[in-house]
Amino acid sequence: MSEEVYDLCIIGGGMYGSAAARYASANSTVKVCLIDPMNLTEEEKKTREILSSYYDEGRIVHIAYANPVMQVLVRHTIKRFRELEKLSGIQFYHSVGAIVTAEKHSSIFFKFLQGFEMHDVSYIDISEKDTLKNRFPYLELDERDHPWLDDDGAGYINPRNLVEAQKKVAQLQGCHIIDDIVEEVKMLQMESICSMPTLLMYRDELAGMPAFAKRSLYITAHTIS
Ligand SMILES: Cc1cc2nc3c(=O)[nH]c(=O)nc-3n(C[C@H](O)[C@H](O)[C@H](O)COP(=O)(O)OP(=O)(O)OC[C@H]3O[C@@H](n4cnc5c(N)ncnc54)[C@H](O)[C@@H]3O)c2cc1C
Repeated sequence: MSEEVYDLCIIGGGMYGSAAARYASANSTVKVCLIDPMNLTEEEKKTREILSSYYDEGRIVHIAYANPVMQVLVRHTIKRFRELEKLSGIQFYHSVGAIVTAEKHSSIFFKFLQGFEMHDVSYIDISEKDTLKNRFPYLELDERDHPWLDDDGAGYINPRNLVEAQKKVAQLQGCHIIDDIVEEVKMLQMESICSMPTLLMYRDELAGMPAFAKRSLYITAHTIS
């Protein structure tokens, strides 16, 4: 790998970092890299505190929120999921519905109902004992809770596939994806590059040269250690 000067280095390629890489690299005048250790060795797993919250199969996405702003935002998000699936050819969103609950006759219960009506959220009331038992025989809910099935495009994402999809599109747009851990970040004063570039050190300095970044974005979800 040759020494590179990036306009933006994104450190951490999880759910947020990979999305940032895709959006930043959509501007072809911006040279972007995304650094994340995709293949941690067993030894590194023992000695490093690198956490990742997306190494599993499901993240719930629902439209029914007590907060109306969330209902609007999540609808937009679901549209973007579909766009990304088309662009990447990777499927990650499964719109199977989602159950939301609120304590019966509590203020949040009424806020939910109000939100459903105001934002035309399609839902099914599954609070009848038999309805719930027939549809979801393994689900036990607290007697005080009132369940609705959010049937308005809600469902779940496979977070690993979502991250793959974001990275694939980012790469097609010219983003460099570097399989490594950022160990150290230094501020350098090198007028030839820019007034305040950042030097990033990788775990395996034999394989990887340091990268220079005019700006860097840390989305590691945890401290760099
Ligand atoms: C069990 C569980 C269930 C959840 N359920 C839901 C849900 O149903 N719905 C929902 O919306 N949210 C849910 N979340 C939350 C959601 O998963 C997180 O909000 C999201 O993954 C955070 O994204 P992130 O990019 O900030 O961090 P992460 O996805 O954790 O990514 C951080 C990345 O940084 C990298 N990194 C760390 N240190 C370094 C370093 N030194 N150098 C380079 N890279 C580094 C890691 O390898 C990792 O890939 C859940 C979380 C968990 C743990």
